[in-house]
Amino acid sequence: METIAAISTPLGYGGIGIIRISGKDAFNVVEKIFKPKNEKNKEIKGYNMKYGNIFDSKGKNIDEVLVTYFVSPKSFTTENMCEINSHGGPIIVKRILELCLNNGARLAEPGEFTKIAFMNGRIDLTQAEAIIDMINSKTRKEQDASMKQLEGELSREINEIRDLIMQKMVDIEASIDYPEYDIEEVSKENLRQMLIEVEDRLKTLHNSFENGKMIKDGIKMAIIGKPNAGKSSLLNAILKEERAIVTELEGTTRDIIEEFVVIEGIPVKVVDTAGIRNETKDKIEEIGIKKAKEMAKNADLVIYMLDSTKELDEEDNEILKTIEQKKAIIILNKQDLQPVISPKTEELIRINKPIIQMSALKREGIESLYSKIAEMFNLGEIEIDDSITVTNERHKEIIKNVLENTQESIATIDNNLPVDITTVSIKQMLDGLGEITGTTASEDIINDIFKKFCLGK
Ligand code: GDP
Repeated sequence: METIAAISTPLGYGGIGIIRISGKDAFNVVEKIFKPKNEKNKEIKGYNMKYGNIFDSKGKNIDEVLVTYFVSPKSFTTENMCEINSHGGPIIVKRILELCLNNGARLAEPGEFTKIAFMNGRIDLTQAEAIIDMINSKTRKEQDASMKQLEGELSREINEIRDLIMQKMVDIEASIDYPEYDIEEVSKENLRQMLIEVEDRLKTLHNSFENGKMIKDGIKMAIIGKPNAGKSSLLNAILKEERAIVTELEGTTRDIIEEFVVIEGIPVKVVDTAGIRNETKDKIEEIGIKKAKEMAKNADLVIYMLDSTKELDEEDNEILKTIEQKKAIIILNKQDLQPVISPKTEELIRINKPIIQMSALKREGIESLYSKIAEMFNLGEIEIDDSITVTNERHKEIIKNVLENTQESIATIDNNLPVDITTVSIKQMLDGLGEITGTTASEDIINDIFKKFCLGK
């Protein structure tokens, strides 16, 4: 294995920057560029830190640093590792990285440190995925769920289920392979019992994803309405609201900036924030119904903003019709002026959606909007308790497939077919579960997962 290096802290201005090096030559690379202050102490011990300076090939002093040593196998990757803590400026960390690369290391790929940890068996695939999720967490709940996964809770459950199946599989195969021995044929009832238990446990995991998805992806909310209704004012009020945390999330592969507010611990993403802000008031014909429909289509929740000082017109009625089938809240904005429409307006009663009276300008009614959202999505009830919450779409899909295999096997038995016919779907169950923890995951799947990591992790 080659020795790899990368900058592990974000490239910005801060107190400390960290350059990580892993591989059998990690200590040699560092030795070439780092001079400890205490020259006498040449010994390298794990979990030890040395203070000194980084020098370039011409002997020029580059920075004053601390180097932490991790001796294999007691490191994140299980290989020899060093972490250079330098001052945290982009020029400094880049220069030190360059020196590492000129002295025997190659640039690590995104997620490569974690991939090595996985390949070397220190963590399994669910734990590696938990690390990405931890780093990308937008809320405490999401981070809590990822931490539980990192601790191995999901893997333990999956492995226990796998062991249950494996045990029975061994018995079945023995009775098929050695019919001359009088190994008791696994009784159908016995096998069925195991499958029912597996089905039960898989169902629990599968059902937890409903909350898991909410914790991780949250709610996509679209604020629609005619120009001047007050959409940007509401958006600004939400984003500036003290208890709303705005997270600027930089995509790991694409540079997207997404804005979230957190309501009852759940991320709420405002769909097409830029669109709301960039609407130019004189291009009314470009906005209108078409845009509103498009935004509503992609949202879990539609907020329809009305200027309550204006009577409803044809366009409003058209938009109201398009949101009939959606989870939606109607806002009657500008309550500080003279409203001409109210929750008692006939067309609004007919559509039968929650109505909030608001003054976005004076920031009145925003709390009521939050409570309504929390109520509509049962947000208060979503907790990371002692049970396992599946938050990862990949895991959910596999669990769904394995659950189907399990149900097929049960049906085979109930239809009185020979026991050995179930072995095909039982083998699929084992393979499927192994894909979650990584024991049977293909290289493509593994590469796909680690591609999502940031550099230096
Ligand atoms: P958008 O086109 O839907 O994004 O609407 P804006 O948020 O840009 O608001 C249009 C105009 O209405 C601006 O002049 C706002 O200051 C004003 N406005 C928005 N909300 C209120 C409100 O609650 N009360 C009053 N009086 N004016 C408001």
